[in-house]
Amino acid sequence: MAIEISDSKTIRQLLSGNGPDEALFAEADRIRRAIYGDAVYLRGLIEISNYCRNNCYYCGIRAGNTNLVRYRLDKETILACCRTGYALGFRTFVLQGGEDPFFSDDAAGDERLCEIVAEIHEAYPDCAVTLSVGERSRESYQRLFDAGARRYLLRHEAASEDLYRMLHPSEMRLANRKRCLYDLKEIGYQVGAGLMVGAPGQTMEHLLEDLAFLQKLQPDMIGIGPYLRHADTPFGKSKAVCAQGLYKEQKLNLTLRLLAVLRILFPYALLPSTTALGTIDPDGRQLGLKAGANVIMPNLSPADVRDKYAIYDNKLFTGAESAQGIAALRKQIEDAGYRIAIDIGDVKGKDTK
Ligand code: SAH
Repeated sequence: MAIEISDSKTIRQLLSGNGPDEALFAEADRIRRAIYGDAVYLRGLIEISNYCRNNCYYCGIRAGNTNLVRYRLDKETILACCRTGYALGFRTFVLQGGEDPFFSDDAAGDERLCEIVAEIHEAYPDCAVTLSVGERSRESYQRLFDAGARRYLLRHEAASEDLYRMLHPSEMRLANRKRCLYDLKEIGYQVGAGLMVGAPGQTMEHLLEDLAFLQKLQPDMIGIGPYLRHADTPFGKSKAVCAQGLYKEQKLNLTLRLLAVLRILFPYALLPSTTALGTIDPDGRQLGLKAGANVIMPNLSPADVRDKYAIYDNKLFTGAESAQGIAALRKQIEDAGYRIAIDIGDVKGKDTK
């Protein structure tokens, strides 16, 4: 049964129902299989730094959290993560971090990051280097592109001004985040946007605005996952913001429904079944795949720093950096009816330049 969702009324209905919607998930799966078959692309996530100059109200690595032990990885460690990942079949490395002054936008910071990108690019020419290190100047994005980065993940977080304001302090600007996404696209990056589902203050109207923004941006990847509380954040401390457990089921189902709607609206898109989805429910990532997702991003960061990249509480640690870890993940993916593709995993079926 084809589900036509050309109008916002239908989308609202699909998103607002309770529980899972098997017909919706089946339709999303049909579309993903028509374009991507049963392939699941792996992206090796390397969390290069938990230093951050920002103070997003939801995020555990915000500058204002003094309960966190800060770390940053050096070049050799990052390259070692790539080496391990390559041997396990990873063909994309995602360097993610807070907006760390050490790797930031001045000449010295840019140079440090460019050098790392260039070395990975040279050592693994058959792999994609993806960056996810926040808002920077257009010139900085260009330098990183010239060094060999080809993909950039920057969730827009909230396309509506009022929700964006609820989630971020006043020095952060939605207009700048959008500017970054358009600059990245113009430079030639494959771009990933996205948002947290069930973020404090988020309504159905906000989600519809997010979808409208995404339709304008036409990103290659869209990353969504449930919002999860971190105790050492303003939201984590606030009584007004609901406890994580309370709406767990709703957040899970809304995330799955939104994934399926995204697959129908963006048939070509790379949609990760995120760590946050795996954290909110032990079967979350498999359910995500069955609702239209086609990417999984296991963690390749060294074991001794993994608990420090704590953007929310109880973050899932899978240990996919080991052969056993990958075997377990492979089994999960196969049990869900898919298979791991050892492939750079570019977007398919999208009109690109
Ligand atoms: N500094 C980078 C990377 C941020 S971490 C950037 O700005 O892009 C990656 C993503 O984790 C964020 O974009 C956010 O959407 C998500 N995230 C942060 N805190 C979270 C929380 N408490 N629950 C769920 N997701 C969260």
